[in-house]
Amino acid sequence: MAGLACALAASRRPGLAVELFEASDRFGGLLNTVETPWGLAEEAARAVINQVEWEALCGDVGAELLEADKRSRKRYIYRGRPRQFPLGAGEAVALAQGVGRFLLNRRGLRPAAGETVADWGRRHLGQGAADYLLAPALAGIYAGEIERLSASLILGRFFDPAVKRQPTRIKTRTVTPRAGFVDLISKLEATLRARGVALHLNTRRQLSLDDLDHPCIVATSARQAVPVIRAVAPAAAEQLDGLEMLSLTVVCAWYEHAPGDLQGFGCLFARDQGFRALGVIFNDIIFPRQSQYRSETWIYGGERSPETVDMTDSALQELLHTERRRLTGMAATPKGVHVKRWPKALPYYTPDLEQTMAMMVLPENLHLAGNYVAGIGLSKVVEHSQALVESVLSR
Ligand SMILES: Cc1cc2nc3c(=O)[nH]c(=O)nc-3n(C[C@H](O)[C@H](O)[C@H](O)COP(=O)(O)OP(=O)(O)OC[C@H]3O[C@@H](n4cnc5c(N)ncnc54)[C@H](O)[C@@H]3O)c2cc1C
Repeated sequence: MAGLACALAASRRPGLAVELFEASDRFGGLLNTVETPWGLAEEAARAVINQVEWEALCGDVGAELLEADKRSRKRYIYRGRPRQFPLGAGEAVALAQGVGRFLLNRRGLRPAAGETVADWGRRHLGQGAADYLLAPALAGIYAGEIERLSASLILGRFFDPAVKRQPTRIKTRTVTPRAGFVDLISKLEATLRARGVALHLNTRRQLSLDDLDHPCIVATSARQAVPVIRAVAPAAAEQLDGLEMLSLTVVCAWYEHAPGDLQGFGCLFARDQGFRALGVIFNDIIFPRQSQYRSETWIYGGERSPETVDMTDSALQELLHTERRRLTGMAATPKGVHVKRWPKALPYYTPDLEQTMAMMVLPENLHLAGNYVAGIGLSKVVEHSQALVESVLSR
């Protein structure tokens, strides 16, 4: 998405020669939709926190966005059982005091450089809110544990008065491409071709110094960028090579609807509850038009269960069956299951990543984009990619 978004932004500049190289036989990277007999299976991203740049990109290529259903506003965290508010009375008071301090003196609560989310959260919101709100929520997004996640990298923008507020015209917070991410990718591809961008599939690039006669944006994962930039920026390549990456395993499962189905966005698992899943998303509640069955996406891996990326499909199905029965009390047999493994897919948002990116020096005309540079979610990836292209072209 970073590469496509950069190319789209550059394609708006008349007369500019733009080329996009992709190592595999399809564009989209982590984004892929598979059609199954039971409905669409998104193999990675499912829902996007909407932003102006994301909406504009989808509008530009003619990809219609589907809004999340109101019923998905309910979110659950498992603590003994799925609960909308998983804190006890004392923990809630500590949280309320922290929120009060945030409202009165936002800057005073700004995380220190190098501080972890666990340290920041326990200090300002209390142990309960850190362990049963922040930890499951951030494991569901970043796949890491709060003891390792960087507070300033992840939460810093909430304390920065310079960060622009999204205009109020963005009313819908959660969206997805109506016909799946694969449709958005093919529309992006068609738009780029129509605008004269040269698209090269099956082309694994490694940059040489000659390439840097012109601006080059490397829009890969942090790990994949290492061989691409090694010859032109060996020190930066070594720094990126040292970054920790997390693997994810996605298990999509379809069931007949049942009266006991939880209604909401999904359920996250507090880590002391003994689940190996980070969370489960209820696709049929969020985007009912995309599924006629009960459709669930179970996310495994990250720091909590890295071994799941090496498990067989049948072992994963057994694990899913056990954990789903614990969550719902039902022992339903799925109509179908689709598994996708993503080894070393996401950067671990640790203080080390923050420091590495802050200190990195790149040669002129070499730029980095992607989910390790300015945010892991798609809206952030697109926002940064567009801003980067504008800044490169304004030089
Ligand atoms: C399981 C999972 C669930 C997620 N859910 C959500 C969600 O619900 N909402 C959300 O907003 N985000 C979600 N994300 C995050 C989001 O999907 C990713 O951050 C985003 O898609 C990353 O895009 P990218 O362009 O940075 O990198 P990638 O998608 O990794 O793309 C990098 C591309 O570079 C190519 N490449 C690599 N090396 C070379 C080379 N040498 N030459 C040419 N090409 C090369 C690769 O083949 C690939 O196509 C999820 C991620 C995962 C793994």
